[in-house]
Amino acid sequence: MSWRNWAGNQRTDPVRTIVARDAAEVADAVKAAARDGLRVKALGSGHSFTAIGVADGAAVVAPGDPRSVRVDAATRLVTVPAGLTLRRLNPLLWEHGLALPNLGDIDAQTVAGAIATGTHGTGAGYQCIAAQVRALDIVLADGSIVHCSPTERPELFSAARVGLGALGVVVSVTLEAVPAFRLRAVEQTLPLDAVLGDLASHVSGNEHFEFYWFPHTDVATTKCNNRTEATGPERGRAARLIGDELLGNAGFALACQLGETAPRLVPRINRLVASQMAAGEYVDRSYGVFCSPRRVRFLEMEYAVPRAAIHEAMAGLRAAAQRHGQAVTFPVEVRFLGADDIPLSTSSGRDTAYIAVHVHRGQPHEAYFGAVESVMTALSGRPHWGKLHTRTAEQLRTVYPAFDDFVALRDRLDPERRFTNPYLERVLG
Ligand SMILES: Cc1cc2nc3c(=O)[nH]c(=O)nc-3n(C[C@H](O)[C@H](O)[C@H](O)COP(=O)(O)OP(=O)(O)OC[C@H]3O[C@@H](n4cnc5c(N)ncnc54)[C@H](O)[C@@H]3O)c2cc1C
Repeated sequence: MSWRNWAGNQRTDPVRTIVARDAAEVADAVKAAARDGLRVKALGSGHSFTAIGVADGAAVVAPGDPRSVRVDAATRLVTVPAGLTLRRLNPLLWEHGLALPNLGDIDAQTVAGAIATGTHGTGAGYQCIAAQVRALDIVLADGSIVHCSPTERPELFSAARVGLGALGVVVSVTLEAVPAFRLRAVEQTLPLDAVLGDLASHVSGNEHFEFYWFPHTDVATTKCNNRTEATGPERGRAARLIGDELLGNAGFALACQLGETAPRLVPRINRLVASQMAAGEYVDRSYGVFCSPRRVRFLEMEYAVPRAAIHEAMAGLRAAAQRHGQAVTFPVEVRFLGADDIPLSTSSGRDTAYIAVHVHRGQPHEAYFGAVESVMTALSGRPHWGKLHTRTAEQLRTVYPAFDDFVALRDRLDPERRFTNPYLERVLG
């Protein structure tokens, strides 16, 4: 079965694809692959831009039946099949009065795929989705199905939360949820220098703060999301249609096409889109605010830098965009997250600022992304595992204190490299 990722920049024809219904079928698939000398890759929703999800031997789709979700209302522990998407999980949690405390921009990822690359949202007092994991069931290279948690096989548990798909196929994930909550979203377009000048108070004064800056403009759209007991004002259907569909998707696609045909118009286009982007104020369920549809296809690179380096990172980014991003109509997204203790999480051990650059699919990205990558790596930046970058194991080792422990664990668990692919060879060695 031919496979391509969401962005369309990665394609493959695995030897075979196995859609597993339970852990035993995953284990059988891994054992059969070993017999046939094939490598194994767990497939998520294909929302990584890098080749991390590319299978060349046996592609395994992990169980994802929502009927097997188990909710413990007393502990708020929710055990979900690894292949379930966040889009199905979020409303299901809501029905039980529960939610995940923080989410990224979209909900199309599978739970296992999202945690495997350290998928995150924003909020200096919050962490990535993988930080909510309390236990995992995983099929290892020898075909065994093992349970791990902070008390059972703790080293495997710790590493496999952001495991890059390199340690085995995760079959179920236990997440700690929080009571369901609504968010009040306040979106504004402000001068970029004012946003940067007041950054510390924006970040500490809001539970979830982020901003978008359009290259070649001096304005930024800020998004402040905070918990509220209020139920309104709701975003009406019309506002949602205009905000998400017309501006966020169809109208934005038009702006991108116009910018590609007439690059000299890009600064004016970007100013116009930035002025229309802020949706004002509204209240919605948490996941309805965190996540929105993304239909305009793009390529993305995202770097995690120490939070204290954000001003230097922004200065370097602005210079790089000025020089190499002339025709870029896509905004830069800047987010913040608290430190966690997950060995290969991009926020491991440090409070973090995330800077993500995008280009419309089909546009050249190499010079722009390359210039931004140089700025971020000089600041000890760590690339998002699922977003484009050129780093290798030798370089990544220097920014992750526990890198060698992860590699040593992988050597012990998967000496024959059943779960590797060319991307993992590059980033893990
Ligand atoms: C439009 C868009 C918006 C995005 N927004 C954000 C965002 O806001 N924040 C953010 O941090 N990222 C974001 N991303 C990146 C995305 O969240 C990650 O790349 C994520 O890993 C994709 O999940 P997936 O289910 O598609 O996994 P895939 O991309 O299919 O796979 C990723 C990795 O997970 C592994 N994997 C999948 N299933 C299993 C399993 N059962 N067991 C073991 N390993 C497994 C795969 O083998 C692979 O190594 C975005 C991507 C897109 C396209």
